[in-house]
Amino acid sequence: MEARLVPVSDKSRYVLDIEKAVEMIDENTVGLFVILGSTYTGHFEDVAGMSKALDRLHKERGWEIPIHVDGACGAMIAPFVFPDLAWDFRVPHVASISTSGHKFGLTYPGIGWVVWRSPECLPSELTFELSYLGGVEKTFTLNFSHPACFLIAQYYQFIRFGRSGFTRMVNACMYHARLLSVALEATGAFECMSDMHRPRGQFGFSEATRLAASNLFAESAMCQKSGADPSVNDVYNYGQPEVAFRFSDWFIQKNPNANQDVVSTLLRVRGWIIPNYPLPPNRGSIRILRVVIRETSSEDTVNRLVRDIMWATQTMLESLTKPLGEALLRPLPPTVSTSDLARDVAATHKETLNDSRRSSHWEGLLGKIGELKAAASSAAAVIDKEAKKAVYQHSC
Ligand SMILES: *Cc1c(COP(=O)(O)O)cnc(C)c1O
Repeated sequence: MEARLVPVSDKSRYVLDIEKAVEMIDENTVGLFVILGSTYTGHFEDVAGMSKALDRLHKERGWEIPIHVDGACGAMIAPFVFPDLAWDFRVPHVASISTSGHKFGLTYPGIGWVVWRSPECLPSELTFELSYLGGVEKTFTLNFSHPACFLIAQYYQFIRFGRSGFTRMVNACMYHARLLSVALEATGAFECMSDMHRPRGQFGFSEATRLAASNLFAESAMCQKSGADPSVNDVYNYGQPEVAFRFSDWFIQKNPNANQDVVSTLLRVRGWIIPNYPLPPNRGSIRILRVVIRETSSEDTVNRLVRDIMWATQTMLESLTKPLGEALLRPLPPTVSTSDLARDVAATHKETLNDSRRSSHWEGLLGKIGELKAAASSAAAVIDKEAKKAVYQHSC
């Protein structure tokens, strides 16, 4: 069996490029994986679009190629916040779907699921039929006996929360991911490679898309937050609650030696594990920092995270000219209110920021945090205690 990896491109938003996938298919292709959603940026790949392309191929060549949807994260997100998005068995070529219980299924590592459209999709040679203790048992696993605790935990979560509980939970994750995205872009120093906070159909960072996203967020924040109604997500792009970001071009121009790896390492000091890693081969020169928002995240978590990212960024910049020890020993600033930051930017930056306004904005933000520094030393002690108490916030 040969695995053919389809290279990503800027045009495909760093996920499956349907045209390139079609070029790589031949008469020996047994199936195609489509990912919901990308580990890198949280984008959903276009399952329905891929299925249409396979239809055309079927008409032209007669090849019948099934899709497997790797829905590790997205299959536990999309049904709750994007119920109208067809990515599942509503799409003709989808033959099987897998998802992880231990991500947004809210249970422990050790359980995942795969479902087939119909019994014919799972060749009988792959299942064991065993006459056992007086009955016939059918099984499709790599190991035979295994503990049931994971299943029971998953079963409990499903009936405990139900569809409405999962919808609330996923809605809150989406809200906090959008809050984080808008706040990061509002600092001027960062731009998001993820697009789940942008108006539907708008992709990629520019001054115009940043403004559109923060205005939309300001308008819809209240109904998003209170969330048992999934329709608040209709105005946003599809995607999972994942924020992939990097220094903005403006920031790199201003600070050519700025280093994201150092920011990632410094954030560990504050208890955050935020990887800085390259995009898939082909666009591997772009490195991104990535945060996955969990159901335990709150607005306060986002406030502390943005404060710590700004602290780490400022410390990294100071360490370029000062001894690292000195840079590191700066007291930790108090938290910023990210919803104020988001609102503020939506209200005051109706037009696009030029370089000098951007500069004064970023420095103003750091200054605002700096002014509070005197009052902060006692607050910082409290925050430090609180941070030590808090369990490590980490991404999956
Ligand atoms: C997490 C993940 C996997 C791996 O799933 P496990 O249940 O941890 O084995 C596969 N694909 C994607 C897209 C993922 O996000």
